[in-house]
Amino acid sequence: MLSLENSDNRSVREKNRSQILQAIKMQEAISRIELAGQIDLNPSTISRAVNDLEEMNLIQEREVGESSGGRRPVLLGINKSAYQIIGVDIGATKIIAVITNIQGEILEKYHYRIDYPQGDVVDISPELVLECLERVLKKYQRNINKSTVTDKIIGIGVGAHGLVDKDRGRVIFAPNFGWRDIYLQKKIKEKFGYKTIIDNDVRVMALGEYWFGYGQNCDCLICVNAGYGIGSGIILNGRLFRGHRSLAGEIGHTTVAEDGPRCNCGDYGCLETVASGPAIAKMARTRIKRGRESRITQMVDDINISRITSELVFQAARQGDDLSRQVLEEAGSYLGIGIANLINIMDPQLVLVGGGVSRAGDFVFASLRQAVSRKTMEDPPPISPVKLGEKTGAIGSTVLILEELFKAPESFLSEELHRF
Ligand SMILES: [Zn+2]
Repeated sequence: MLSLENSDNRSVREKNRSQILQAIKMQEAISRIELAGQIDLNPSTISRAVNDLEEMNLIQEREVGESSGGRRPVLLGINKSAYQIIGVDIGATKIIAVITNIQGEILEKYHYRIDYPQGDVVDISPELVLECLERVLKKYQRNINKSTVTDKIIGIGVGAHGLVDKDRGRVIFAPNFGWRDIYLQKKIKEKFGYKTIIDNDVRVMALGEYWFGYGQNCDCLICVNAGYGIGSGIILNGRLFRGHRSLAGEIGHTTVAEDGPRCNCGDYGCLETVASGPAIAKMARTRIKRGRESRITQMVDDINISRITSELVFQAARQGDDLSRQVLEEAGSYLGIGIANLINIMDPQLVLVGGGVSRAGDFVFASLRQAVSRKTMEDPPPISPVKLGEKTGAIGSTVLILEELFKAPESFLSEELHRF
């Protein structure tokens, strides 16, 4: 009975700490009085939890705040430098590994570009992911030797392309790499020893923007990735919505063009076939082959049409090429239809768009917003590019670890820090 009470007490105290940690995270700096005004706990409970969190190094006293007459209050803030997290984004076209502090600021990064010389499948082994992690760690360790920063890495978060079983740490299927049933979490944990959590690369983008990007304070948020493939992550009531089998958000395979091209999934007219990076390149190639004039032909060696990529289409559009602008506008319009469908179902506060296609800027966004306005019933929510750019996925992967840390700080740290 006694131990039951103790464990109940412990979990109540962890819950209080978690609540306070979340509240402090949302502000640059906050006084104890302001904290008490925001949290429904009595002052002595708050004080005790604040002390616990200070002892764990998770929060620290900051500069002294403005006085409203009496003594100037001491402000509390997250102690961002106390611990570090590794995040790795294994996307279809790149692997980006970062080391961040607990406020999502990048301390080190390593970028590996994946090329697709022939066909749709490329030979990426799980060992390459381990190598990227090793490289970012080595770079980081070389640099911290020169400074006074302490090395306290508390976990590795992984966002992986494809179908991911988070609970079992397994990539079920990653079509572009030909992976089936890869127990990636175990491989990483075995090699590096840190706590490791894996999830889908696009879902973690939503987490990244929700914690550190434009999505902060938006409890209902959609983050769309439009790049080599198209997918989305949905934050619903402040949590990532995964669905029954972790498949929620796959807008790339919703139908937007009934008689459109055949998709990798076997169906026709999926959003991915008309708005992804490869779709944009293909649309441009097809039109040029049919005889349309375009500046792109002067931009590729030997007028080799097969070399036309979506990046080249963006470049040509910027230089005023009509065909490229038209293709991007069409892709944007289809993307808008897909996003409007999601808006009509989810009613989000904000929609963010990341991935390579989003970097085409207004060539895509203008027609995207028009299509969304046409297809939604009320004024649509704001739609903007992601804040964290290309690193949204890598930073979002660190959030997989941060979520656990913020949920139960004491048990997380006592488990992870016994190594030090
Ligand atoms: Zn499809």
